[in-house]
Amino acid sequence: MSPFDFDLFVIGGGSGGVRAARMAAQRGARVALAEVLGIDGLGGTCVNVGCIPKKLYSYAAHYAEAAEEAHGYGWEGPAPTLNWQTLKANRAREITRLNGVYHHLLQGSGVTVINGFARLEGEHGVGVATLNADGSAGHQSFTARHVLLATGGTPHVPHFAGREHVITSDDVFDLPDFPRRLVVVGGGYIACEFASIFNGLGAHVTQLYRGEQILRGFDDEIRHFLAAEMAKAGVDLRLNAGVLAVERHSDGLLVRLEDGNTVAADAVLYATGRLPNVNGLGLETAGVAQSGQGAVQVNSHYQTNVPHIYAVGDVTARVQLTPVALGEAMVVVDHLFGPQAGKPPRAMSYEAIPTAIFTHPNVGTVGLSEADAGAQYGQVTLYRSEFRSLKHTLSGSTERTLMKLVVDTATDRVVGLHMVGADAGEIVQGFAVAMKAGATKAQFDATLGIHPTAAEEFVTMREPVKAGR
Ligand code: NDP
Repeated sequence: MSPFDFDLFVIGGGSGGVRAARMAAQRGARVALAEVLGIDGLGGTCVNVGCIPKKLYSYAAHYAEAAEEAHGYGWEGPAPTLNWQTLKANRAREITRLNGVYHHLLQGSGVTVINGFARLEGEHGVGVATLNADGSAGHQSFTARHVLLATGGTPHVPHFAGREHVITSDDVFDLPDFPRRLVVVGGGYIACEFASIFNGLGAHVTQLYRGEQILRGFDDEIRHFLAAEMAKAGVDLRLNAGVLAVERHSDGLLVRLEDGNTVAADAVLYATGRLPNVNGLGLETAGVAQSGQGAVQVNSHYQTNVPHIYAVGDVTARVQLTPVALGEAMVVVDHLFGPQAGKPPRAMSYEAIPTAIFTHPNVGTVGLSEADAGAQYGQVTLYRSEFRSLKHTLSGSTERTLMKLVVDTATDRVVGLHMVGADAGEIVQGFAVAMKAGATKAQFDATLGIHPTAAEEFVTMREPVKAGR
């Protein structure tokens, strides 16, 4: 008879938490998962206010392009107009459906789902603040052999005058009225994606980035190319643009910039990074070590300095991506409860993580930037193809596509693969398998293209180009 109520208590019902709970329960462990099920249901940031609704809105924005481009293919008639309320309602319905799917999956696996705010409490203890049926506050205490922290992250807005007037990615999906004039602050994934999406949906978008070029850390050529494409599509992208203050006036908001300029807006979206969700978790009482920004520190098994407490996903502030949290969750489950029958225990590699930015056009990337590859391998050979896609020969769109390969000259291995163009995320996913397998440029060359596609360019680039163009 176990001295604990549960073998595993998961705090947080996002991507990492749900995956760990489900897989642990399927291995026969007694598992509980606590999550505050209020406006948002199970699924965490990704399902409720992240990847999924963002991608739906990105699809919505692409329809505007498609309607415009269809004229070149002979389609006639007036341009359709966006009904923001319909888009919001349909998105909300789909998210609610997904929340239900997650619930169903957990219950089907035998996980006990507890609705409430959980915190670490005493030795192997977890306390959950719940709501009683009559609306009064309740409290339940549990013990668990292992605890998994999977509480995710939350948008970070820096301090400045008028901070209370701005919104974050948590709010943007449900704005009561469509923002005709949107200011987006930041130059990372979220800022670039929402600048593109709202531009596509018909807003006048001004994106303000404090540095020299958006998407710091990505391949420089990709950054410049994307910035130019976004600007061409209509985003008013302003670099070296620091915000001094945001003021509310009778006709909307006014953003005051450090250089003395102002921008009028109906909404100001701050996308300036995310911080780990650790408030109220009881980490200090349990003695769980944290980094400077509050992130929970873990070892290669995602174990904290308190041996029975583990953490995965954004709360550890390592790589803030859903597939990474899922992978980490599987490692924890294999470590604690053994691998799946007949399979070795899983390990996570943080090398060559493929990723996409759902800007218009998309960015897809895997492996190293030209600069990072140069620093790591010394000599690299570059291949590059820039073109207007076949689709746009008739569509009238001036959008261009860029594809780039970075090859370690000594071994011929492709160590970086980058694309700006339609469906870059879809295209790069497949190439990521080849990169993971250590594919060489010779093997890319030996692969036949699928004609006519944009993707075939990745296997037909023959002539190297000079670095640092
Ligand atoms: P990022 O860290 O990607 O970008 C933050 C941006 O805000 C940077 O441009 C940064 O500038 C800027 N910034 C930071 N602090 C300030 C400040 N005080 N004032 C002005 N600008 C500031 O964070 P995001 O919020 O965009 O996204 C968080 C994470 O979520 C991403 O890193 C990504 O891992 C994940 N994500 C993934 C997506 C996908 O896979 N498609 C989509 C959305 C999010 P600087 O570069 O100068 O520091």
